Amino acid sequence: MQYMWDTEGKKYLDLFGGIVTVGVGHCHPKLNAALSEQASKLWHTSNVFVNEPIHEYVEKLASKMPGDLTVVYPVNSGSEANDLAILMARVHTGNFDVIALRNGYHGMSPNAMGLTGHSTWKQNAPHYSGIHHAMNPDVYKGLWGGSNCRDSVVQVDRKCNCDCSKGSCGAADKYIEQLDEIFTYSLPQRKVAGMFIESIQGVGGVVQFPKTYIQKAAELVRKNGGLLISDEVQTGFGRTGDSMWNFQDHGVSPDIVTMAKSIGNGFPLAAVVTTPAVAQSLINANHFNTFSGNPLASAVGTAVLEVIEEEGLQENCKKVGTYFLKELEKLQNECNIVGDVRGKGLMIGVETVECKETRRQLPMDRVLDIFEDLKDEGLLVGRGGHYGNVFRFSPPMNISTQDIDYAMPKIRQVFMKHAK
Ligand code: PMP
Repeated sequence: MQYMWDTEGKKYLDLFGGIVTVGVGHCHPKLNAALSEQASKLWHTSNVFVNEPIHEYVEKLASKMPGDLTVVYPVNSGSEANDLAILMARVHTGNFDVIALRNGYHGMSPNAMGLTGHSTWKQNAPHYSGIHHAMNPDVYKGLWGGSNCRDSVVQVDRKCNCDCSKGSCGAADKYIEQLDEIFTYSLPQRKVAGMFIESIQGVGGVVQFPKTYIQKAAELVRKNGGLLISDEVQTGFGRTGDSMWNFQDHGVSPDIVTMAKSIGNGFPLAAVVTTPAVAQSLINANHFNTFSGNPLASAVGTAVLEVIEEEGLQENCKKVGTYFLKELEKLQNECNIVGDVRGKGLMIGVETVECKETRRQLPMDRVLDIFEDLKDEGLLVGRGGHYGNVFRFSPPMNISTQDIDYAMPKIRQVFMKHAK
């Protein structure tokens, strides 16, 4: 179910899915049944005693992973997953320093907060030693690249001032030079434990990178002893349409993958998946989590994976997402405050601007008016980006093109009302 009703009975189409979380829809009957069946059997044993649901779950999740990403560590939130991934990378490589990208979001537990490079959340965060932020390879707002560079199912018809139509515009290389500067200036011994990447930045405003950036970053980090850690908290579980995990579209195979949000459709569950080699290193480290492998969460997690499979939700994300992106691009052509429309599958961002030429952000009061008007029209959306001016659409993955046809006239009317 992608619709919700408030206490007065007003109906809303959920285009944000509780922050990219309600992947298979609200109150899915299969999940309700799995949860209540498990609730009457067993709630908790801790991971001291292995239980049947967790056994079934980790096998099922591992079967969805490519390559030798076969070892699953269940945890309870995306932040915990990223904290554990830092520990794994440090223990496995023997190196301490970690790299993340500016404008990325990786959570609010102490280490994950250190990784988070998003301006809004950085303000109150103390400095965490050993975490370095590289320049963000943002092809819309960054120094290099044009919108054709990015890894997108829909190519926006806008001129790019580089030669990216030939497949290598050089933007990725320029950002890689910036990444390399971290070694030159901060890590002259050129040793690193790993690099965290969201293959599409979610909270950062649905930011996509030049096509080969992640591949080249992985090469550089590995050359310096580190691991590639893909944060699939928002991009995972088929949402981006072409693959179950969005890193697969970048031709890389990470050493560690972290996941949360859609994994439990709203039930607290998250996971870290890694290779046997990395897992082997962790045997000598102390790591414990009381709720990890909780039977209720595991039962829900298994049901989520079954629903994605049975209902063809990854394919649906591709179909409906492509349709939605195209409709939004039409709006972009008509509306002078829609600077950029981007994303992949059902992870979509609409960047609002004061001026399309300068790409300067739409002032916050106007952004908030649009947000409130969309809500009044019965549409729940998210916001993100450095200035909070990117509207985010990440609905339940079972949404239909009819739902988009229902939403688009309302979206168009609200954006046109606020255009000047
Ligand atoms: N990574 C990413 C990419 C996220 O978007 C988030 C949450 N917004 C997290 C990690 C942290 O997840 P949680 O809030 O479950 O700790």
